[in-house]
Amino acid sequence: MAILSICTYPDPVLKKQAKPVDEINSSIRKLITDMAETMYDAPGIGLAANQVGRLERIIVVDLQKPDLQQGLIAIVNPEIVKAEGSVKYEEGCLSVPGFYSKVKRAERVTVKGLSPDGKPVTIEADGLLAVVLQHEIDHLDGYLFVDRLGPVAKELFKRKWKKLQSNKSNGNR
Ligand SMILES: [Zn+2]
Repeated sequence: MAILSICTYPDPVLKKQAKPVDEINSSIRKLITDMAETMYDAPGIGLAANQVGRLERIIVVDLQKPDLQQGLIAIVNPEIVKAEGSVKYEEGCLSVPGFYSKVKRAERVTVKGLSPDGKPVTIEADGLLAVVLQHEIDHLDGYLFVDRLGPVAKELFKRKWKKLQSNKSNGNR
């Protein structure tokens, strides 16, 4: 197992569309394990392959709420087959550290894909899980949550991001 480095905005890999996985072999399974470890280490509640510089359609999610007993969800070739309702949730992203904003998404989704051992899985989700699944699948299509903001919030992001970057180079003074 290994902790992978996380690509951050504006890394071009985050704008690329990931390709479907043809065969879940040992190297894909290792990538899934490494992605999970990287997510827990960050720590985050979701990670898509693009974020570690890989263009395979793989996501890992763990809301890390013991009361839900959900545990790790890893999906290969995830696809939203049904989406209903609308909800606004404050989102953040390991690839856009330090910025949070409300994003409008579907309230309930059904996601189909494959488990790490190649079996078909269907997940019906609402609440935070539905939001995280949509956020991660967006990554596989080359979208960040900041791409889903309205014009005013997007402008705010650009300004805040510039400030965050210059703070970094000034040694956070
Ligand atoms: Zn993200």
